[in-house]
Parts: sequence; structure tokens; C-alpha cells
Amino acid sequence: MIHEIFPVGVLQCNCSVIGDEQTREAMVIDPGDEIEHILSIVQQHGLTVKQIVITHAHIDHVGGAMKLKQATGAPILLNQNDYALLKMLDTQAAWIGMRSPGEVAIDSSVGTGDKVVAGRVVAEVLHTPGHTEGSICLYFEAGKKLIAGDTLFAGSIGRTDLPGGSYKKIIESLHGPVMALPDETIVVPGHGPLTTIVEERESNPFLATP
Ligand SMILES: [Zn+2]
Repeated sequence: MIHEIFPVGVLQCNCSVIGDEQTREAMVIDPGDEIEHILSIVQQHGLTVKQIVITHAHIDHVGGAMKLKQATGAPILLNQNDYALLKMLDTQAAWIGMRSPGEVAIDSSVGTGDKVVAGRVVAEVLHTPGHTEGSICLYFEAGKKLIAGDTLFAGSIGRTDLPGGSYKKIIESLHGPVMALPDETIVVPGHGPLTTIVEERESNPFLATP
């Protein structure tokens, strides 16, 4: 599995390009900004983008999605519970002093039980509300990796004070589907350094059981 992780945009959202070495088909997760850079990485590996997946509808994760769709023709996937938040992109842009990226059109909703496929690369969708109503994580069983969006960070969890946020729900999501994953799972958070499930289970102050 080809996997490139690199921060994009002013808020340094971790964008992932994940591709199948054999078929060269790929998915891009959270193309928040810097689409030229994302496309250069896609080209470096000789990949064709088949899916654009958004972990949640915050501007730093979804801001570049339409540009990437125009360049690749790939569909944009987002959980439907974040559609309302997606309609607030202008407001979100104002919060961080950014220009609005305009309207983003979603091709289909994804939730728990759905799989996102690019070649032989398969991601299981986990609906993990709390940071936003429609937040999802993507689990790659073959590579033992979790793309966590802003649900889980190394040593911390996503903020829940923005519209659609719920501390109760994020804790339920984390103690439910997220902590059920194997210890050795590598976690790629929406921002900052990588971690593992076991590391967070044992040392994350929001998760550690006393
Ligand atoms: Zn966010």
C-alpha cells in the first residue's frame, strides 16, 4: 500500500494519498488545500484518484475537494450528518480569515458498514460523531492503519465546542469503535504526529482508564 501523509493549508491538516501498488488506483483523504501539491504526489507515484474522502466538513479538511474533483473526476464522499456544516463553509472561512472555497457538492454519503475501495485498497468506514455530527474514521485492516480525522490526536482528542460538537459523543465514539481496534493500529490524526491505539489507550488523558 502506497501511503503519503503531508500537512496542507494554514491549519496544517494531514492529507493522505493512499494507493494500490499494483492497479495504481488511489484515494485522497482530506484534501483541505494545496491541490497542486497533492496532484504532484499523485503523479509521482503514477496514481489515478478514484475516491475523495472527507473525514468531516471543516474547511481545513474539505476546502480543496472540488478542485481535486475537477482535476481527477473522482467522487467526493462525506457522511450525511455533516451536510449542514458543509453549507456553512463561508462562515467557517470567516472564522479563520480565509477565502471561502465556494460550494462543495457531495457525491455520496458514507457511514458505518460502508467500504471505500481503490484497487485492492479497502477502507472500512466508522461513523464516529463528536467532533462533528458526521465525523468518520477510516480503517485499513490490511495495513493496520486508522485515518482518524479530528476525532483522535496523539495525546488529545478533537475539540467539541464548535457547531455539531458533543463531548459525550466523542467519548462514546472513542471508547466504542475506535478503541476496539487492534493495539498495533497506527493512527494518522487530522493534525500533528502519528500515534498508535495502544499508546493512546495507555496514555491519552481522555481515554486512559485509571
Ligand atoms: Zn475539524
